[in-house]
Amino acid sequence: MDTMLARFRSVQKELWILQGMIALLAWDRATHMPKKAISQRAEQVAYLTALAHEKKTSKDAQRAVKALSKRKNLTAIDAICVKRFRKEMRKALKIPLEHVKKFSNLVITASHVWEEAKEKRRFSLFQPYLEKLVTMKLKEAGYIDAKKRPYDVFLDDFEEGMTVKKIDKVFERLKIRLIRIMQQITASEQYRRQKAMKLVFPFDEQRKIAADIKQRIVPDNDRIALDDSVHPFTTTISEDDVRITAAYRKHDPFFSFTAASHESGHALYELGFSKKLSGTTLYKAPSTGIHESQSRFWENHITKSKAFWQFYYPAYKKHFKALRNVPLDRFFQQLNLVKPSLIRIEADEVTYCLHVIIRYELEKALFERKLKVKDLPKAWNKKYHDYLGITPKDDSHGVLQDVHWSEGYFGYFPTYAIGTMYAAMIFNQMRKENKRLEKNIRSGDFTAVASWLQRKIHRHGATFLAHEIMKKACQKELTPDDFIGYLKEKYYALYQCKQVNMKGVTT
Ligand code: ZN
Repeated sequence: MDTMLARFRSVQKELWILQGMIALLAWDRATHMPKKAISQRAEQVAYLTALAHEKKTSKDAQRAVKALSKRKNLTAIDAICVKRFRKEMRKALKIPLEHVKKFSNLVITASHVWEEAKEKRRFSLFQPYLEKLVTMKLKEAGYIDAKKRPYDVFLDDFEEGMTVKKIDKVFERLKIRLIRIMQQITASEQYRRQKAMKLVFPFDEQRKIAADIKQRIVPDNDRIALDDSVHPFTTTISEDDVRITAAYRKHDPFFSFTAASHESGHALYELGFSKKLSGTTLYKAPSTGIHESQSRFWENHITKSKAFWQFYYPAYKKHFKALRNVPLDRFFQQLNLVKPSLIRIEADEVTYCLHVIIRYELEKALFERKLKVKDLPKAWNKKYHDYLGITPKDDSHGVLQDVHWSEGYFGYFPTYAIGTMYAAMIFNQMRKENKRLEKNIRSGDFTAVASWLQRKIHRHGATFLAHEIMKKACQKELTPDDFIGYLKEKYYALYQCKQVNMKGVTT
């Protein structure tokens, strides 16, 4: 192998190793680390992050990438690696190191203040820090591409190729239809009569269920570990080491169940990249949205489906005395209760994307300077009132609920809704290609499902962009139609709404 290529491959490999180490430290912080070690851990992570930045932008890496960019004889994979790496490297080089350091310090303080502000339910404490974060992000967008809309620059980090223009078009249609579906449901007799069951579900049994779900979605037990954390997440340490976590609530067993299913979907994706891409910059998902599609797919379309529970409920029920006299239909209603609520991560399938759209619209207004940070709580509450018909009683149940902004993540929220729409597109396509799909799910056999995902999505890693993978797999661009069709088919039946549309054709 020639020296330039060898050097380029070794830079990629070193970065892959460093990322794994950073991920391991972060996983440990969220699961087992003693509380007092927080600032030492922050130092360790900052050190490794700076080292990774140095490696990525080193003269050596720059020389290799420059030389290889001109080569015509590279393999297809090497050529794409060079292209992608070059883009990431250029981006990293455009932001002055001083700015990077200042921003990471700001994030550390802002995160602490956000926690305190959330606890005290006072946005005014966090406001000056959010103002600084917004100002610094605007500056960063200017460094990267002064000609682009700042929000488009942020979107590119999470969903390469996505723009405000494209999202606006899709979200506007999604929003109108979701609000219409909500109106249908809330007008139903079933909705008026619905009541959440108050039952106790022992933690030990919930844990057994979480482990079982993990095993069903990711059967290769030797490459995955499940732990507890306050907020469920998935992280990758190396090719054969993916960690997922779940959180448990005594009166709400669906929270841990949903987390186990959602995070296992992420894990299956991480474990499914082609080994040919190992150690390269392509050994990852091409976007946050497509990653989310894999978790939402298992969470919504498989483990919240009637077919799944027809097979799973008898075994599930045995774990909980409280369910002894609860028939499947009643249980299924409970699992899929629709009710406008204030907290995004607790939202049901129908209202979830409205929470996301609210955040997207507010972020966009902030960065287009149409909204001032100090007016954010008022704007937040108004949107909750307009779209969901409810108003937060304080800032901690409103504008302060998510961690994202305090960590400097802007442009991340839309990927939750993009992933949800992608998941519905995938499910529809799979259903079209596999007439036995529902039968498979009803018998707990996920081999065909996993194999479809592996062939069409997972193995590609980041060889293609997310929208290219989706186009190949589903033969269409991002659309809300499949998701809306899915919601109508499921929830109009559940709530016995008049406008039942069994074909899933949207209006
Ligand atoms: Zn997720």
